[in-house]
Formats: sequence, structure tokens, C-alpha cells
Amino acid sequence: MTSLFSKEFISEITETLRLQKIKLDRQIKDLTNKETGSAFPSYGEGEDESAEEVATYDANLQLIDSIQSEMRDINESETRLTKGTYGTCKYCNNPIDEQRLRARPTSSSCVACKKALTQEL
Ligand SMILES: [Zn+2]
Repeated sequence: MTSLFSKEFISEITETLRLQKIKLDRQIKDLTNKETGSAFPSYGEGEDESAEEVATYDANLQLIDSIQSEMRDINESETRLTKGTYGTCKYCNNPIDEQRLRARPTSSSCVACKKALTQEL
């Protein structure tokens, strides 16, 4: 399949996605307690510390959740890159603007469709 984009652009995006994944991976690791392997932190045994742990745990879980959904978007983009369907709007099949893809490499819809969708909401 011939790509809509130049080789340079595709490798630029591939690299951006790769680096982004490494960054997200590190963020998840930072949020994970090294001893327990869970997102539950360990501040101490006191009651104050326990309350703080639970609050941090909730926040950590939310963060991890959003990081993981970002990861999924990146993985999908990588699949599209491999298949040669990257940069095509999933609604109208038109090519997505390079500028838009540079700013947000996981975009899967063009500006016009995105606008139409947002206005519907
Ligand atoms: Zn579109």
C-alpha cells in the first residue's frame, strides 16, 4: 500500500510515538510501588499516613488509567502505520493534515469531522 505521506514524515511520527511510549511507560513505573508492584503507595503505618495512601492510590489509579488509554491510542496508531492506513480520517477517509498529526500523532479523524462531532455533542 502506498502511503499518503513522505517516508520522512512517517519515520518522524514513528519515532515520536516510540518516545511517547517510553515516557508513558516510565510514568506508570513511577506510579507503581516498587516493592508491591501495585499503585498503592507506602508512606507509613500511622492513620494519617493511611488516609494519605488511599488518596494517593485513587489519584494514581486515575492517572494510570489515562496513561493506559493513551498507550492504546499509540498502539492503534502504530498498527495503522504498519498497515499504511495511518493519517486517514476514520470517518470520511480523507487524509488528515500533517500539521494536525504532528501536534497530535494519535489523531484518527480530520479537523472537519472532529468539528462536526464536537458540535453534535
Ligand atoms: Zn474526516
